[in-house]
Amino acid sequence: MIELKSAEEIGRMAVAGQFVGELLAELSGVAAVGVNLMDIEHHARRRIAERGAESCYWDYAPSFGRGPFRNVLCLSVNDAVLHGLPHDYVLRDGDLLSIDMAVGIDGWVADSALSVIVGTGDPADEKLIEATEVALETGIAAAQPGGRLGDISAAIGEVARSYGYGVNAEFGGHGIGRTMHEAPHVANTGRAGRGLKLHPGLTIAIEPWFCRSTDKIRFDSDGWTIRSADGSRTAHSEHTVAITPSGPRVLTRRPAPDGSSADPTRKPATAA
Ligand code: MG
Ligand code: MG
Repeated sequence: MIELKSAEEIGRMAVAGQFVGELLAELSGVAAVGVNLMDIEHHARRRIAERGAESCYWDYAPSFGRGPFRNVLCLSVNDAVLHGLPHDYVLRDGDLLSIDMAVGIDGWVADSALSVIVGTGDPADEKLIEATEVALETGIAAAQPGGRLGDISAAIGEVARSYGYGVNAEFGGHGIGRTMHEAPHVANTGRAGRGLKLHPGLTIAIEPWFCRSTDKIRFDSDGWTIRSADGSRTAHSEHTVAITPSGPRVLTRRPAPDGSSADPTRKPATAA
């Protein structure tokens, strides 16, 4: 069942979204050469506790994981793309780190992710991150009232292909609201004009993720961490978005260092 949210409920999700955006921006600054992934995880735990927010990841136990998740972040390095378990690993120059986080505040949830290069990046990795960010913005722009879910999926898939990347359809975006994962599934490829009608009040997480040279994945033995099947590097970008009568509203925008609403981790879209 798909629950459409009132304007007031979307406003409450935006409170959680603002916190998620601010904390993700902060964590992307914490990530640096020589920093241990567990330090980033503990930094986030402190901030979440201080805010009185609740991690949606802690104790999360879907069918594919091995036991409940006991972290507040997914930290996926290099060929790891989704659900990376924070562990004792010190970041190295050139690592590609994806940080994914979902929290609830007063019962309403927001979910967002970004990818950053630690230290000096490989241009091919920068291009990969740019592709997920352009795909995310293009997907958001397609999330118009009166449109169809397939418009979003098709827009994301088109950007991936324009950059020369394949799309894995097993994991994608999702409805979100009172809980982290609600209907519908938002695939990262599809056909425009098909699928669920986008009504005002629909709230979804849109999350393109691509691998440099494959659309196949494999799971680590921990049952959580998802990697590219061929070991190539991967990137992931995600926002929580509400469909409103006047268009899509991004609830997890990150603040710029100067306090403006511009997103510091977004680069201008350029041709592939
Ligand atoms: Mg997420
Ligand atoms: Mg998500």
